[in-house]
Amino acid sequence: MLARSVHDAAWALLVQFVRFKAAKAGADVVLVDPRGTSQTCPACVTIKVKTLREPLHRCSCGCTLDRDVAAAQIVHQRAFSSGRDIGRQDTSQRVAA
Ligand SMILES: [Zn+2]
Repeated sequence: MLARSVHDAAWALLVQFVRFKAAKAGADVVLVDPRGTSQTCPACVTIKVKTLREPLHRCSCGCTLDRDVAAAQIVHQRAFSSGRDIGRQDTSQRVAA
């Protein structure tokens, strides 16, 4: 239980630091739900489960990307979409993007 509270405090501190630096730079910080970002196809938004050993995101819709690029695109879509369902809808667990 202590580890969890330390973990939560570390994320909260990171978000605080990022918000501080962003404010100084005149930028905004957008928080997104990180769950499923590496498992969601950025092109068709379906869940494509893969292991950490799979370096590529290959979806049946034809989308093939580096898995990190695909995850980054999902984070971007979640941060800047306007109501479109990008995988998960629960935003109760948010982290800085
Ligand atoms: Zn797809």
